Amino acid sequence: MSYSKANITKRKFDVVIVGAGGSGLRAALELSRAGLSVASLSKVFPTRSHTVAAQGGVSASLGNMSEDNWHYHFYDTIKGSDWLGDQDAIEFMCREAPNVVIELEHFGMPFDRNPDGTIYQRPFGGHTANYGEKPVQRACAAADRTGHAMLHTLYQQNVASKTNFFVEWMALDLIRNTQGDVVGVTALELETGDLYELHAKAVLLATGGAGRIFAASTNAFINTGDGLGMAARAGIPLQDMEFWQFHPTGVAGAGVLLTEGCRGEGAILLNSEGERFMERYAPTLKDLAPRDFVSRSMDQEIKEGRGCGPNKDYILMKLDHLGADTIRKRLPSVEEIGHNFANVDITKEPTPVVPTIHYQMGGIPTNINGQVVTWDGQQNRVVNGLYAVGECSCVSVHGANRLGTNSLLDLLVFGKSAGKHIVQFVNGFGDHAAVPADGSDRTLARLNQLDESKEGTYAQDIAGDIRAAMQQHAGVFRTQKGMDEGTVKINAIRERVGSVTLKDKSKVWNTARMEALEVDNLIEVAQATMTSAAARKECRGAHTVYDYERPADDAECPLGRNDKEWMKHTLWDSASNSLSYKPVNLKPLTVESVPPKVRTF
Ligand SMILES: Cc1cc2nc3c(=O)[nH]c(=O)nc-3n(C[C@H](O)[C@H](O)[C@H](O)COP(=O)(O)OP(=O)(O)OC[C@H]3O[C@@H](n4cnc5c(N)ncnc54)[C@H](O)[C@@H]3O)c2cc1C
Repeated sequence: MSYSKANITKRKFDVVIVGAGGSGLRAALELSRAGLSVASLSKVFPTRSHTVAAQGGVSASLGNMSEDNWHYHFYDTIKGSDWLGDQDAIEFMCREAPNVVIELEHFGMPFDRNPDGTIYQRPFGGHTANYGEKPVQRACAAADRTGHAMLHTLYQQNVASKTNFFVEWMALDLIRNTQGDVVGVTALELETGDLYELHAKAVLLATGGAGRIFAASTNAFINTGDGLGMAARAGIPLQDMEFWQFHPTGVAGAGVLLTEGCRGEGAILLNSEGERFMERYAPTLKDLAPRDFVSRSMDQEIKEGRGCGPNKDYILMKLDHLGADTIRKRLPSVEEIGHNFANVDITKEPTPVVPTIHYQMGGIPTNINGQVVTWDGQQNRVVNGLYAVGECSCVSVHGANRLGTNSLLDLLVFGKSAGKHIVQFVNGFGDHAAVPADGSDRTLARLNQLDESKEGTYAQDIAGDIRAAMQQHAGVFRTQKGMDEGTVKINAIRERVGSVTLKDKSKVWNTARMEALEVDNLIEVAQATMTSAAARKECRGAHTVYDYERPADDAECPLGRNDKEWMKHTLWDSASNSLSYKPVNLKPLTVESVPPKVRTF
């Protein structure tokens, strides 16, 4: 049976949340507790969302173990972002951090403890005391399973608050009315293959990252950028998509992450000469410099022939000097990952690691209330009824480079603030808005193209081509020529996406159909990334282009970070195939702005 208007089931909720990771669950809690009817959709069981894989910690300037305050955190985050982060949002996040972390503790989060009963905190990359003077202990941790503990805590609270979970449901498209307001989503129930229209007064996208546009990634297989694809298809431009974070320590050859918490606890990186090379690149913070910095330094060592192993293509991370007891107490999962993915006993020998794609700094543009915004050339305009939080959103607190542990914090702070704003919005809303008769047309066209296809390319082949192109053309170091070639390749792949074929057309738990639908999202994210990257003619944060690097011996050279021309956010509009820009907000809410300066660590 093919999909048609006649067999779409319609249901109504106050709010539909797409995504049940940390950000979606934190927002859902606010809504359910306020008595709203909430549908929380997830492609997988909620506690299998990628948040579960977060290891190292969540940042908050609690100052439990070394002197700290939110002003230091604010400064570090701006400097970490290479001055592309909006300072109002960064102030909001860093001020709120202690509150939301203590609140999480009260929800039942099993943090590690200090002897005096306070939350255990470890150092993390780029987090400092006294404005860059020395590393600070700011990452609140539950061993190296912080995300696991956090996701389960939030899930349990949602169960208690009677959030409705739609487990193994895949949202496909946003429904907008003629005024452009968002009035619902279309979604597939994967178990039956049935199509639904879910009508809502507000829709919140919390679909996580899209790390699966790259071949080697620390991300879960479900991280295909569905929320970004939905927003792009609904005509909403995506912001700062050129900025992708490489985590310095993915297991070489496997991609699985070894948390920065390793270096927080004292692990060090070594080249083939046994040298702790980070001392040369970042004399103050050394191995705990921000991720863009450490990843580049590692790549540089490898390029200059000081990589380790028979092919000189990885770096070694040494942990054994921490002692087996500390490792088992603070980093038990890292020990397991060492055994399972690197065949290494980390208590005795170093582990081969390489920079690996980890996190997208860009996303769906929002304000600090989680409301999705578009830019009219002068100011932000709210898209009524649409919110976004978590890794799929760009508020923008991470700018051109995120500091480790600031993402789990982002989920808590903006999940809560979006939840609060939605409660107000829905309470003043009245009846549901009418849903246009053609609300599901885009979705039906996508589903029917697949069902009617007789020949063409398989989804997994196109996805493989996207990943290979991204890996080759949007790496740690980029070149203008490489990015231009990458753009041509991705544009050509896009042409083929419309002819994806589906061999198995059955309805019940058809994962092939799901993967084919995900390709529509992968291509949106990949194209946004390549095009935005090729257009940015400078080096900033994670976007390092050989052609624009400032020579080390010439501080006056106009290359490098070019604040005069490029201190601005990129907006990629898929509908019109065009780029535009909007200014960075350098004005915090209450304190003085941190002016741009050279980034050394
Ligand atoms: C290995 C690893 C370790 C990390 N460690 C840390 C750390 O220690 N500290 C830190 O701050 N950050 C860390 N990060 C980053 C951080 O964990 C993520 O950015 C964050 O958890 C993302 O949360 P989220 O709520 O945005 O999305 P996710 O947790 O990824 O959840 C996305 C949700 O959306 C659902 N979904 C997606 N598409 C659809 C669809 N079409 N229909 C229905 N549902 C859909 C999924 O099923 C899922 O429920 C780590 C990331 C990784 C990959």
